[in-house]
Order: sequence, then structure tokens, then C-alpha cells
Amino acid sequence: MSAENKASGQAQLAIMMHPDDNVAVIVSDGGLPAGTLVRDGLKLVEHVPQSHKVALVDLKKGDAVRRYNVTIGYALEDIVAGRWVNETLLAMPDALGLDDVPLATIKAPKLEPLEGYTFQGYRNADGSVGTRNILAITSTVQCVSGVVDFAVKRIKEELLPRFPNVDDVVALEHTYGCGVAIEAPSAPIPIRTVRNISRNPNFGNEVMVVSLGCEKLQPSRLLPAGSIMLKNEAEPDVVFLQDEKHVGFMSMIESILSMAEKHLERLNARRRETCPASALVVGMQCGGSDAFSGITANPAVGYAADLLVRAGATVMFSENTEVRDGADQLTSRAATPEVAAAIVRELAWYDDYLEAGSVDRSANTTPGNKKGGLSNIVEKAMGSIVKSGSSAIVGVLSPGEYLRDKGLTQGLIYAATPASDFICGTLQLAAGMNLHIFTTGRGTPYGLAECPVIKVATRSDLARRWHDLMDVNAGRIADGELTIEQLGWEIFQLMLDVASGRKTWAEHWKLYNALTLFNPAPVT
Ligand code: CA
Repeated sequence: MSAENKASGQAQLAIMMHPDDNVAVIVSDGGLPAGTLVRDGLKLVEHVPQSHKVALVDLKKGDAVRRYNVTIGYALEDIVAGRWVNETLLAMPDALGLDDVPLATIKAPKLEPLEGYTFQGYRNADGSVGTRNILAITSTVQCVSGVVDFAVKRIKEELLPRFPNVDDVVALEHTYGCGVAIEAPSAPIPIRTVRNISRNPNFGNEVMVVSLGCEKLQPSRLLPAGSIMLKNEAEPDVVFLQDEKHVGFMSMIESILSMAEKHLERLNARRRETCPASALVVGMQCGGSDAFSGITANPAVGYAADLLVRAGATVMFSENTEVRDGADQLTSRAATPEVAAAIVRELAWYDDYLEAGSVDRSANTTPGNKKGGLSNIVEKAMGSIVKSGSSAIVGVLSPGEYLRDKGLTQGLIYAATPASDFICGTLQLAAGMNLHIFTTGRGTPYGLAECPVIKVATRSDLARRWHDLMDVNAGRIADGELTIEQLGWEIFQLMLDVASGRKTWAEHWKLYNALTLFNPAPVT
């Protein structure tokens, strides 16, 4: 989109992302009928739905179709100007090779530091800062989940009212822990994910664990001795359900409640303090995308990402299959050749992972994406990458790794994850995310109990219908009310407010999705 510094004040009918593009996206609610003059000399020859593409020029069979100044496909037949260009008319380009991508060739523009922005957060002993004050109960295995759920319900009813400074009690449930090939080469991914989620800044470095006793993932393997997680090594905060001292179910529940009470006392003593915006660790994600994602929400979130980086914060973007077709954009933007090589390593590993399952990155797009005008993964990826903003990529994280373990405490990070909303969110939590930004075009009620999620709608129609689920309406950009820059600032300010305790809609309704581990290793 051409850089405009003030809102046009009126809605355009079709938006072009780059002057060299030969398609534009229809913006109007409900689409536009045949005969509509969408711009000088361009009349629609058929009805084109909202967020779908129209050919701006006559295209010959085999011609490259360009959006974002990138070839998103090749015409499968002649396409006259004014025609609806959808996935049935496009052949998808081959995936870029990873062997000859440019490594750290672009010097990202030097961004002016941004000083003086703060939020009210909870400082932790390890240097991280929480945006919420939550008691989390870690488990080693799915077998204990019913018991932990029962205990959490009792904790909320009987204990939590006495500890008003604690926001919530959350069971960190998962399906891992037993029945798995725990020595498989990729088993460290789910194991470190569970470990690192328990260290999330929103849990105040207060780790307690419920274990069954006989499972493969023993507490000592999940939380190695000497780590910050075992405050008292002689008596770690672990409840073993199979311990012989337990006679009857209520004995287990009482053990969990009495351990929880000690943790709640310490958490309750914490207070919010003024913290610099640099303490934010923001995970960017999109889900239920449409063709507006790359026009409104993702560019505004990308602008906010640049503001965060300027303020010294940490910003993660992820979703391997949604950056794969722009691999060259990422590797060229890497701060160093080593960072670029790490991006290639992660994407190549993921190519192999997909190939082992006999699919490739094209398995990503959904029926909803296509209905929303995204013809294929190339087009989706270009719109997705935009939310990373324009700064240099200074670090790369493998799935389940913790940012601070890698010395990554500021700047833009590529955290390699699958694009699945739940798996990506879970891995970003493990990385140490304390605030989540989620853009959606089709609409999803996504939320996490562990960390606030700010949801950004790409279209005003969605924001109107889901007025009590969406936190931000980026459709105002397409409506001509706001510029990308203005909305970027609005999102940045909202992030500081939410980090300080303002509730998101997902928190208001307690709409929380399950933690979903990425386990590329076999089960047994
Ligand atoms: Ca996603």
C-alpha cells in the first residue's frame, strides 16, 4: 500500500498493495456487482465478493499474477480485466529453494529509540516481568488432569477469595508425559515446552507440580535439579498421587490445596510496579485470515511491532508455513548471517517434518481462507509476514525454547512454530510471552488463560458483529478512517493498558483454549 500519512476519509472500493501489482482486493461490504467502476477505466465484468481479487489488466494464460509485488500464482487461462481472480484460476508457484536465499543482505532502517513508555507489571526474580499474577499448576502427565481440575475448582472456591491480588489459578494440562517415545530425537521439544511454560513470567517464578508417579516424564526430568524452579531441592513442590501416604482421593486434593496455599500467599504479596515498555514480550499471531489481514490488521500490528522494538521490547513472530514462501524476505532481513542461517535451519527442518507426513506448506490454507479471498499459501504468507514490521530479525528460537535462556531480551525474534493457533500460542508461552496479539479476518474467539490476548479484526463488518469479542477494529483503515500508523499507535497504547491489567474480551468472558503441545516424536 502506498504510504499515506493521513486517512483518506473515504472508503476505497479496491485496494492495491504495490504499484506493480496486477490485481487489487475489493473492500466493500458484500462485494461489488458487475458493471461497477472500481477505478478509472476498470469496470467489473462479474460480481466480485468482498476481500477477493479483481484483475486490473488483461492477463494471458501463464502470466504471473502479482500482489504485494510478489508472484502469488500463474494464470491457468486468459483473464480479462475486471474479472474475479480466485484460486481456481491460479497455479501455485513452487516453494523457494532454501540453499541460495540471501543472508543478511538488507540493512533494516535504523529505528529511532522510543523512550518513556511504561506499564504496571509484576517484577520477577529472574528479571522477567508478568502482566498477570497467576498461580499455575504444572503437571507431568495427562493422567492427573481430572484430579488437578477438581483441585483447581476447590482452590478457586475456597482459597482464591482470600488472596485478592492473585488474578487466577490455571492448570497447565497437556496430553504428553506417558505413552510417548521419550528418548526420540525430537522428544526434547514437548518436554522443554512444558518446562518453559511453567516458567512463564505471568506465574511469578512459583512452580508447583502434580505428578502421577509411574509416568515416563518424571518431575526430575521435567524440572532438573538446581534450576530456579525447585526453590527447595530437599523438598520440591511436587504432589505424587501414587504416594503411599495418600489414602483416598481427598488426601490427594488436600495435598494439592495445602501446597497451592503457600504459593498463593507469596503471589498475593506481589504488587504491580512501573516497568519500562522494554519488559514486554509480545507474541504476534494470526488465525482465520482473509485477504484483509495483509491490508489492515497485519500492517498496523507490524507498525506496533516496530514501536515495541524501538521501545526495547521483545517481539516474536512465528508460523513456519506462513513465512515459508517469504523465506528470502526473512533471511535478507536477519541482523547477521548466523541469524539468517538459523532461519534456514528451522524452515528446512520443518520442510522435512511436513515431507515425512507426505504434505507441504500448501496444506496450510483452510476453506475459510479461500472464502476470504486468499487463493493460496503464497498470498497468505505475504500478508502474514507484514505483522513482523520492518526491523532486523535479531534472533531465532527453536520450538519450545525460552528466550532468556538464549540471551534474547529485546528486538524482533523469529520463534519457529507451526501455524496452528493453539500450538503457536503454546510455544510462544513457552518462549516467555507476556502479551499476545492475534489478528483475524474470518473471526475466531481464541484466548489463553495464561496470558492476555488482544484480538484485532481485519474488517469492520466482523468488528461490528463480534463487538464483544474483538478488541480492535483494523477495518477502519480500509474504511478510510485511520492510517496504518494511527492504528499502530492505538494498538501500542492498548498493549500497555492490557499489560497493566485492563481485561481483554477473551478474559472478560474467560474464553480460553487448551494448551496444545507440538510433539513431532512418535507415541507408543
Ligand atoms: Ca495461526
